[in-house]
Amino acid sequence: MFVTRFAPSPTGLLHLGHAYSALLSYEMAVKRKGLFKLRIENIDFTRCKKVYEDRIYEDLYWLGIKWEKDVIIQSDRIQLYESYLKLLNDEGFIYGCRCSRSDIKNALSALSLPENTLNTFIYPGTCKEKNLNIWENNVRIDIDKIKNYFGNIVLSFKEIGFGPNGETGLQSFNVNWLKKKFGDFVIARKDIRTSYHLAVTIDDLTQNVSVVSRGNDLFYFTPIHVLLQKIFNFKTPDFFHHRLITNNNGEKLSKTKNAESLNKLIKKGKSLDEIKFMLDM
Ligand code: GLU
Repeated sequence: MFVTRFAPSPTGLLHLGHAYSALLSYEMAVKRKGLFKLRIENIDFTRCKKVYEDRIYEDLYWLGIKWEKDVIIQSDRIQLYESYLKLLNDEGFIYGCRCSRSDIKNALSALSLPENTLNTFIYPGTCKEKNLNIWENNVRIDIDKIKNYFGNIVLSFKEIGFGPNGETGLQSFNVNWLKKKFGDFVIARKDIRTSYHLAVTIDDLTQNVSVVSRGNDLFYFTPIHVLLQKIFNFKTPDFFHHRLITNNNGEKLSKTKNAESLNKLIKKGKSLDEIKFMLDM
């Protein structure tokens, strides 16, 4: 069964980039007589709001999209995410970390280690041997422990869309690549008890997603999700990464910075066909 999904975060009103992502995913499901699922990614309670969640339903309805009834609201599932965190802990694959961003910055400048390209830091491992409680701190993946256990395994997935550099077809990464790119990345934040990576991996399984459809800004996170799928013994779905909608200056649309909301365009009298034309669909 072909199952795809749209997983917006209710941190603001949807813009044309979201409309493109949702329509693409929905049309793919309709064409293949499959299912289209919806998920509200609201684990970050510091930024997500219920009013924006309600607006998502209204906007999708206006776009003519019909979604399955089993909508996932991530904030209802924190206990489930914690149970997977416990599994990782039982295997010794994670550790607690109490470093702030500036602690990490200072440690890195002392070691003169590079910042990586995704604007995240390669964590220097300051808290690794401290045995800090995972339930009271941020939690990081111990990538060396994973490598000791699994070896430098290949993390592969089928890309049926395109990555940011035109990647398509079978993609293969490995644990060494992950280590170099992300180091001991955060798998649960102290305040929200999960992370995008952990939640998305579990939720795509729950929703039986066979094709993960999303923007290509998330392409290089996919090996992280494949690694978690291997650890938890989940089947790896296929992936469809799509281009990002940009403004006239070529910048990615952002809820907070430069994007006119879909709602505003609707209020200005744009029709669905006009919106699709703007999106080159
Ligand atoms: N919640 C993410 C966003 O709104 C999408 C994550 C995903 O599709 O995997 O950008």
